[in-house]
Amino acid sequence: RAKQKGRNTFCFYDSHMNDEALDRLKLEEALRRALVRGEFQLFYQPQVDLHTGLTTGVEALIRWNSPERGQVSPALFIPVAEESNLISMIGWWVLEESCRQIAAWREAGLAGIKVAVNVSGRQFLNHALVECISDLMAQYRVLPSQLEIELTESTVMAEPERAIEQLNRLREIGIQVSVDDFGTGYSSLSYLKRLPLSTIKVDRSFVRDVNNQSDNAAIVSAILGLADALDMSIVAEGVETEGEERHLKDAGCIKVQGFRYAKPMPADQLAQWMRREKSGI
Ligand code: C2E
Ligand code: MG
Ligand code: MG
Ligand code: MG
Repeated sequence: RAKQKGRNTFCFYDSHMNDEALDRLKLEEALRRALVRGEFQLFYQPQVDLHTGLTTGVEALIRWNSPERGQVSPALFIPVAEESNLISMIGWWVLEESCRQIAAWREAGLAGIKVAVNVSGRQFLNHALVECISDLMAQYRVLPSQLEIELTESTVMAEPERAIEQLNRLREIGIQVSVDDFGTGYSSLSYLKRLPLSTIKVDRSFVRDVNNQSDNAAIVSAILGLADALDMSIVAEGVETEGEERHLKDAGCIKVQGFRYAKPMPADQLAQWMRREKSGI
């Protein structure tokens, strides 16, 4: 099938091209409807401190429960949304839902859960972003220390001068920004030095089997050195095994996220998770 070959593959069969274009159009239409029908949901995945064993924050990850398609992966629909202006609408929904959830957790007696929100390139460069975040924070009484933004390396590096401007504005309102999937894009080190970023998230591909694969170990060690030199902190993504954890800890990487600790979960489960942790069970 043409659609399995990926977007950039030249295709000889016009009928397949039409199929693919049609599928995409249908998906866009379904996403538009999903927003109206309230089919999106946020899951939250804990980030854990290896020294204390405690959750330091969570990452918000969107889920689409489609009555027609079942659970659709964001890895599948976010790229489609990014190619249309749908990502702006979905992105605003994610930001508002995160703030609403922070407030709901606060009402439920769980203060101080820090939520990291993924923001797409188009949304990040939108002039209204900082004002919109400020408004949401005021409306839901969210403190800057409770909200964080994750941008992929490619988003940050696509238009570095504009990114610097936007990151400075976010810093002015006290919002910290992480670079997601670090190592999979092309970072200019001279820009990285100038960007007000707080955290590097080491991509899962380098964490995988890091205790047995010397190339991954070398990359992780280089990223740790870079973060240290630039005064940034590190989160390792996708930690699954004890061996990976031990290696990361020995290398000096303290903050981790991955199935080894917890899978992304709905808000009520996360609240239980936090309560269990607080009571030390
Ligand atoms: P990401 O931001 O890098 O998120 C981490 C992804 O890794 C999540 O996949 C998470 O479920 C998965 N993961 C975490 N720990 C492990 C592990 O130990 N093993 C494995 N194999 N996977 C692990 P998910 O939720 O499917 O999201 C995929 C991507 O979709 C995200 O990657 C992000 O780029 C995008 N995305 C998700 N939610 C949003 C959103 O609200 N807005 C935007 N713009 N993008 C989003
Ligand atoms: Mg992320
Ligand atoms: Mg990531
Ligand atoms: Mg990723």
